[in-house]
Amino acid sequence: LRNTHFSTATEPSSKQPNPLRVPNLIGGAFVDSQSLASIDVINPATQEVVSQVPLTTNEEFKAAVSSAKQAFLSWRNTPVTARQRIMFKLQELIRRDIDKLALNITTEQGKTLKDAQGDVFRGLEVVEHACGMATLQMGEYVSNVSKGIDTYSIREPLGVCAGICPFNFPAMIPLWMFPVAVTCGNTFILKPSEKDPGASILLAELAMEAGLPNGVLNIVHGTNDIVNAICDDEDIRAVSFVGSNTAGMHIYGRASAKGKRVQSNMGAKNHAIVMPDANEDATLNALVAAGFGAAGQRCMALSTVVFVGGLKSWENKLVERAKALKVNAGTEPDADLGPVISKQAKERIHRLIQSGVESGARLVLDGRDIVVPGYEHGNFIGPTILSDVTANMECYKEEIFGPVLICMEADSFEEAINIVNRNKYGNGASIFTTSGVAARKFQTEIEAGQVGINVPIPVPLPFFSFTGSKASFAGDLNFYGKAGVNFFTQIKTVTQQWKDLPSGTGANLAMPTSK
Ligand code: NAD
Repeated sequence: LRNTHFSTATEPSSKQPNPLRVPNLIGGAFVDSQSLASIDVINPATQEVVSQVPLTTNEEFKAAVSSAKQAFLSWRNTPVTARQRIMFKLQELIRRDIDKLALNITTEQGKTLKDAQGDVFRGLEVVEHACGMATLQMGEYVSNVSKGIDTYSIREPLGVCAGICPFNFPAMIPLWMFPVAVTCGNTFILKPSEKDPGASILLAELAMEAGLPNGVLNIVHGTNDIVNAICDDEDIRAVSFVGSNTAGMHIYGRASAKGKRVQSNMGAKNHAIVMPDANEDATLNALVAAGFGAAGQRCMALSTVVFVGGLKSWENKLVERAKALKVNAGTEPDADLGPVISKQAKERIHRLIQSGVESGARLVLDGRDIVVPGYEHGNFIGPTILSDVTANMECYKEEIFGPVLICMEADSFEEAINIVNRNKYGNGASIFTTSGVAARKFQTEIEAGQVGINVPIPVPLPFFSFTGSKASFAGDLNFYGKAGVNFFTQIKTVTQQWKDLPSGTGANLAMPTSK
């Protein structure tokens, strides 16, 4: 039975007789788990229980894998044009339901409605890109590699693949994964974040409505145990992961030890270098937007700014602009930033701010005591700025993942580049300057996978790939773009001979070489 009543999960459960249970999706049916254990999905602005996410049982997990394995047999032979057409339909349905998806994201994750729309839209662009899969998946052909012999390569799907998602982009990240995987001809097991699984369910409902056959996309829920089951399962061929380094390195090690392909996008500490010649207004706007947008809970947030030639002329103006931001529940139209995901996240961020102060940083803007009228129980932290931070401080070494901007100073451009390059993460880095010479030097010397020049959050569009490096990525084939298609396909090389063969030449046992 397909249970679609979950679509109403934007209402807090206090307004409903029983908290909604988030269903599994197995073999095309949205079904409640048999598991008695579940986790509350909590609205971070109100602490209301939105729904309950079950810890999918091992039996149900096995059933999901087996339905994906079964579905692969016919899905892999479904023409790529037919698979693409389902993506064409899916992008249309996502557009139709973008408000509903955004409201679900804001309710479960906390970001503002406008930001939640962006979350959906950046995922939608991956669906649009998957509509061109026939071209993306094309093989290669060399005629006459030897007389009468041609060689060609075919990109074939792997089989059952899996995706494990973080909480911060409940729509975009599942959409980085399953549309590419299934349009390549794979079948998929999706494990959404246990903190905000609603958008994945809504997207799966749309995928089914768009015509995705039963069993091609399955959803299971849980935390460490189900993730370990995914890593260990003999029938799963590839694992796509986005989240923290602790989980990501564990998954990378465990799943690759079982012979699986793994792509693991992990934590970040993205730096901006601000040169003295940078355009003041545009730079301040960019720093404030990328430092505090989504309450700093973006893997591409600019969390650290290195001012070359001194912070003095920038600091007051930066504080003024950060102070002017409105902190409120994401559903309120005037909100610039919403709450952080959980009470635990709020406590952790408070602790990191305090550790900065205790190790000598200057707290020039303190957002810790904020109270948001009407949402007194929300996990709010106002924009916070720590200045005079040095590389040995814990607040610098740890990814804070909250609305905290760290300011450092460098005497020279070279010193600023060295600061960025010594950091273990390599997700992204930006420079703000009006000098082409400085920009070009930055692009060449900076050790980060995604570079912004007068642009704060360079998340590449889907015809490129998301190319974090160093400790921000493990694996060798990045998400979406050509690399994403390569990740979800394996190459088969065919050599064929069609010529009139003279008889009586005898067998030649030497290694064949082209003639
Ligand atoms: P997280 O690692 O806590 O959780 C991610 C997923 O892993 C969840 O589905 C969770 O259930 C599972 N998980 C968590 N701990 C696990 C463990 N010990 N063993 C097995 N599974 C485990 O991450 P999060 O807090 O949801 O997301 C925030 C993190 O994600 C930040 O570090 C952020 O930088 C990163 N992130 C990176 C990118 C990127 O593209 N590089 C994008 C978004 C988020």
